[in-house]
Amino acid sequence: MSADASESCIICNKSTTRLCNRCKSARYCSTTCQHADWPTHKLLCSTFSTFGTSSRPTNEHVRAIFFPVDDKKPKVIWLHCKWQDDDDYGRYQLAQVDSILGSDAPVGYPYIQYNPVLKRGLSDTICVCYRDTFLIDGSKLNKSIAGITATKPGQYHDWRGPIIAYGKVGLGIDQTNCKDLNMNDFRHITDYFLSYNTNHTPAIQQSIGIKMEGVKINCVGDQKIFNKPYFEPIEVSSVDPIFSEQDSSDIAERIGLPIFTRRCPPNPIWAKDQDDKVFERQSPFNNQDAGFLHLCCDPKAIYDPRSGILGWGWASQKWQNNVGSAIVVRQDKKPLSPLHVEALCKYCYEEIRPLLAHSIGEYAPEEPMSKDVVLAMICRPTFIIKWYKLLDEKHEKGEFPEDPAPYDV
Ligand SMILES: [Zn+2]
Ligand SMILES: [Zn+2]
Repeated sequence: MSADASESCIICNKSTTRLCNRCKSARYCSTTCQHADWPTHKLLCSTFSTFGTSSRPTNEHVRAIFFPVDDKKPKVIWLHCKWQDDDDYGRYQLAQVDSILGSDAPVGYPYIQYNPVLKRGLSDTICVCYRDTFLIDGSKLNKSIAGITATKPGQYHDWRGPIIAYGKVGLGIDQTNCKDLNMNDFRHITDYFLSYNTNHTPAIQQSIGIKMEGVKINCVGDQKIFNKPYFEPIEVSSVDPIFSEQDSSDIAERIGLPIFTRRCPPNPIWAKDQDDKVFERQSPFNNQDAGFLHLCCDPKAIYDPRSGILGWGWASQKWQNNVGSAIVVRQDKKPLSPLHVEALCKYCYEEIRPLLAHSIGEYAPEEPMSKDVVLAMICRPTFIIKWYKLLDEKHEKGEFPEDPAPYDV
């Protein structure tokens, strides 16, 4: 990574210490660059300069930028980002956007971590929140964003309904702390609206650092509410917490495909609507496949329910209850495809789980098979057999995936 991005001119990336005289927040190397930013900067500069941080209602409030539907200009507001204490996920701040966006629609919230116009990575994340259904739910044209896109000729996305942006500390995908936005961030948001869908550069979900191909195993909530596939290809950044606070899979390790895994925080949209009919009496947190991936095959593992470890043949409690969606990457950082993960999960569930069940006496009065025999059967050859079985199943359904076997990538 080069010099701290925040010390660069917000128009041309040149290193500079000059700030806009009025708001003391946007950074420019020259009056030329300041003039270039003026058409959009002026929409917020004076409002921003008179928005005193001493008026912060509580230390849970962050300075956010609100794009109202019926006003030509954006606004600076205090957004309540309430600390949540979650047994499983620890502490994190949850932005209270319902009162602004309405609680009757799911919230779309792309992360801005890269500015495709400036071609530079951000040092923190900007989260943009809108009604995910704004194109079909009768939401009105957003005039404050139209005021921004009007500054440059071109065809722009049809932004509708109220939209709010706030900051999160750091990169990755589930940061815990929220933060104030400044006028440089306003430029990044402006560039997001101006570049969204207008060229082939993806404007969202990009971040600095190396990215690798991983897979998200979506839980019932993410599948039913957001229409996500069971196994979803995702890009995982090298700064993702999966590389510092991860779990792993005994079975994947034994077959020579070691992986890192982690759970994703629940999406509040489905987490609060657990009785919703679309879940068909399942918990929206349900994610059986992610659970089976974590079956313990360590013959020395002890039964210690207080720390959530249930020992041989069982996934730890963390992977049994309220799992939610989970992310998987390969430890060797090679690409992992949804089909690889599907094969791994099926292997764990359909092939290995019955063996483990046998070894803990579930087939009584049969004498339980020994752990050593089970371990000997968890190996590359039996996995490869499963891999080709899965390919056959796909062929029968008329699908012809071209993924190489995970050992061959
Ligand atoms: Zn400049
Ligand atoms: Zn200014």
